[in-house]
Amino acid sequence: MVSPKVCRHEVLASNGVAQVQRCLDCDCVSIHVGPLTFRLDPTSLEGLWTVLGDAAMALHARRARLPSSARGVA
Ligand SMILES: [Zn+2]
Repeated sequence: MVSPKVCRHEVLASNGVAQVQRCLDCDCVSIHVGPLTFRLDPTSLEGLWTVLGDAAMALHARRARLPSSARGVA
């Protein structure tokens, strides 16, 4: 029986929401969010970074336009 290949990982970044690791063998990036793990190539990580930043900015812009009563602020 052939044992499965085990990748070696380094942590690139981590916070209370997610941890991002890079495989030292195949350069694959793993994003761990709670019980979920997403595997991406480094180019896709950059694309995900861009779209998440765009989404966060859009959300902030929408919240800034709402009256404070609609945001739950007393
Ligand atoms: Zn790997």
